[in-house]
Amino acid sequence: MKKISLILSCSIIFISACKSVEKVNSSDELTEEVQFSPEDELVDFSEYEGDFEQDAFSLEDETPTVRAIYNPSRTLWVDLVHTKLEVSFDWANSKLMGKATLTMKPHFYNTDSVTLDAKAMDIKSVSLNGKKLSFTYDDQLHLRIKLDKVYKKDEKFTLLVDYVAKPEEREKNGSAAITSDKGLYFINPKGEDSDKMPQIWTQGETEANSVWFPTIDAPNAKTSQEIYITVEEKFLTLSNGKLVSSKKNGNGTRTDYWKQDQPHAPYLFMMFVGEFKVIKDFYTRQDGSKMEVNYYVEPKYENDARAIFGETPAMIKFFSQKLGVEYPWDKYSQVVVRDYVSGAMENTGAVIFGDFVYKNQRELLDGNDQSTIAHELFHHWFGDLVTCESWANLPLNESFANYSQYLWDEFRYGVDEADYQAEQEAQGYFNSSSFQGYHNLIWYGHNDKEDMFDGHSYNKGGRILHMLRNHLGDDAFFKGLNNYLVSNKYKAAEVHHLRLAFEEVSGQDLNWFFDQWFLGKGHPVIFTEQVLDKNNVTLKVVQRQNLEEKFPIYRIPVEVAIWDDNGKRIEKVLLDSLEQTFSFSFTGQLKNILFDHQQMLLGRLYEDKPMAQYAHQFKNMDRWKAKSVAFNRLKGSAQFSEILDLALTDKFWHIRELAASYIVENLKQDPEAKYLSSKSKSLIVKMASADPKSSTRSQALEAAVFFADKDEMVPLVTNAIKSDSSYTVQSNAISLLIELGTRIEAFKEASSVLDDLKLTKDVKVKVMVSEALSQSGDPEHYEFIKQVAEEKLSGSEALRAFISFVVFIAMAEEQEDHYAWMESLVAITEQKALNPQGQIKMYFSRIVEYEQGVISSKIDQLNTRIAEQASTAQSLEQLKLKYENLSDRLNQIPTE
Ligand SMILES: [Zn+2]
Repeated sequence: MKKISLILSCSIIFISACKSVEKVNSSDELTEEVQFSPEDELVDFSEYEGDFEQDAFSLEDETPTVRAIYNPSRTLWVDLVHTKLEVSFDWANSKLMGKATLTMKPHFYNTDSVTLDAKAMDIKSVSLNGKKLSFTYDDQLHLRIKLDKVYKKDEKFTLLVDYVAKPEEREKNGSAAITSDKGLYFINPKGEDSDKMPQIWTQGETEANSVWFPTIDAPNAKTSQEIYITVEEKFLTLSNGKLVSSKKNGNGTRTDYWKQDQPHAPYLFMMFVGEFKVIKDFYTRQDGSKMEVNYYVEPKYENDARAIFGETPAMIKFFSQKLGVEYPWDKYSQVVVRDYVSGAMENTGAVIFGDFVYKNQRELLDGNDQSTIAHELFHHWFGDLVTCESWANLPLNESFANYSQYLWDEFRYGVDEADYQAEQEAQGYFNSSSFQGYHNLIWYGHNDKEDMFDGHSYNKGGRILHMLRNHLGDDAFFKGLNNYLVSNKYKAAEVHHLRLAFEEVSGQDLNWFFDQWFLGKGHPVIFTEQVLDKNNVTLKVVQRQNLEEKFPIYRIPVEVAIWDDNGKRIEKVLLDSLEQTFSFSFTGQLKNILFDHQQMLLGRLYEDKPMAQYAHQFKNMDRWKAKSVAFNRLKGSAQFSEILDLALTDKFWHIRELAASYIVENLKQDPEAKYLSSKSKSLIVKMASADPKSSTRSQALEAAVFFADKDEMVPLVTNAIKSDSSYTVQSNAISLLIELGTRIEAFKEASSVLDDLKLTKDVKVKVMVSEALSQSGDPEHYEFIKQVAEEKLSGSEALRAFISFVVFIAMAEEQEDHYAWMESLVAITEQKALNPQGQIKMYFSRIVEYEQGVISSKIDQLNTRIAEQASTAQSLEQLKLKYENLSDRLNQIPTE
């Protein structure tokens, strides 16, 4: 499963919009030299010098009096062998009528009873060989069935459960935390929203599929499956496995029969119904046979589907070859649904995506969703073929899916892109764990299974696999993965299966690695320092992570690169204590020492070395991370202007972008950028229109307008608005035009290009223009922004248009018409409350709260003015009453 990343980006939109003046610069925020350092991961080293036996004493003081939480895997009293479902739907009441035929057998011990997971259902009957069985279902969670006799190990029996699934009642019964635990979703089932295609889809992970069929809803259960889905003839259906038949019933309905012979976990069952278009593609297996690869989208995205998903066959081929295990399932389908409750989900052979992946060709220029596509696909080996036996072992699914993003980036876009994205993942782990705390990666002590879906299981796990790959070498690493998959296919696994698979292949004991990374918590915090003595350099290396937090003292094999007059050589060292020194000889001049040559250690690394070494590093390392670290360290140094010039022509876009953002950051202090050569200045002007990466063009444009000739400035910006292929560049250019228009006469005149843009039919452009204009609070733009907010939009556009209107009105606080505008804002908010869309729904309460804040501050201001200006008190009093009335209306809007 991939949680939605839009949540973050939308909250950034909202927060940055509210702050209004500060621009969020996403390109450089993550590549800043790591800052020193959250208290929870670092302690004063001096406390630990010397005697570590003290730990024994302090532990005694904190001796626990109860056993710690331990979340085991589900005990399998019976095995679920085969599941056959026959389902039809009551759209008007959001119910499913089902018959489940379940073939089971005792796992080991004899039994005369079975307990199934079945949530919020009406159970009409349970029978075996035509005989009704007695059952209890008091808690609406567990269906306890008394069998007709005692069954022995491997003695099969087949139960028939006749039931009605009522997911809406599940929601009513659920707590705040599990409102999205409905399993089965009817979207716009009565067709009341003309802009949203009625559809049904399911979401099983973690244990929600037992809302729509009775099962053993645990990741260590595995069953083959058949589903007969009866729908009106106009609908398409999708499920796991192959479509075996499709029969019209002569009454306007049709029954589709889907079948998957290979067993998989119940949380991976999937069903989808809707009037979608199918775009057919295929993958050729190594044996030459062809497999269907289909993309299910709404008709209006039919022409974009290949641009969104078209790399899928190449990915299936790449991963199959890399793992030495052919893609193991019948087909690969991907479907985009509305109002999805997560980012995407790896249902076997039938992956669901949220509508954030709907992008047109222009949007895809600014960034595609291939990493999410790769993530879900890789789960088909790690998660679907071999499944984590318990949620505590979730990293066996998610760390691999996360790491597949690296593998795909490396293959498709090169190692720099892969390293850059990997660093974003590492920062995601650092950021989330500094807020949410640290825990073992394999986390038996979690409070709620949903807590497992965090920056540890995904981001940290992916980085750990990368370190393991580096330690073992590519051949042993991928052979180890192959061994793990082949040994455990169609079964559940725990972390030790993984370790044993690698140990068997490599011949190495790996307990030390797994203990500190998979079964431990935290990460190393490492300082290095050089001491020169004639032709020897001593490297002092200190581990300073927080041992009180039970972070381990790490054992880390590290490659140290040393450059001298003879060139470069690599020395291998082993860290295994808190403080170590390593001596290296060098010939002539020591030019640089780079600790962790591959730059892949997950941890904080602080190298104390001369600036000349960083300059050498920038010029002589060809990997992105070593260069970006050097660039950031060199800022302000004597060598920096030379490095900045070099960075502007670097082969990798992010280094060029780092240089451009540095210039933008410094324009306020030094508008003429005197530190830049005239050659570099003209280079930036060129980059602004010619750099192949849109975010880099955007940064360069922002810098370039300041250096360009007077005659060049306006055309630079207006051409970007009119003809740049990227929305990112266009949007930034609009903001630039507005900002400069307040200061420079020529830009004021150029604003006619905005009026042209407002007439566009492209909603994405409209929303973008609205966003840019919202910051101005200029009455001239009111009608346009309001009109965009009122349009019927979907997905993130709907949210962004709405937020733009909220922001505009907040910015226009001093305007004469503020009250009337606020009135229309409250009216639109009331309108949205009637039928909030997915994205808006998620942020609705925050938006209302924000509007409430704007009105309250107006009321406060009026109070002050009434007190100060007795003469106009009466009219102000009336205005205040009006605002208070609006405030009451906002308070009455239900926001869930
Ligand atoms: Zn996942």
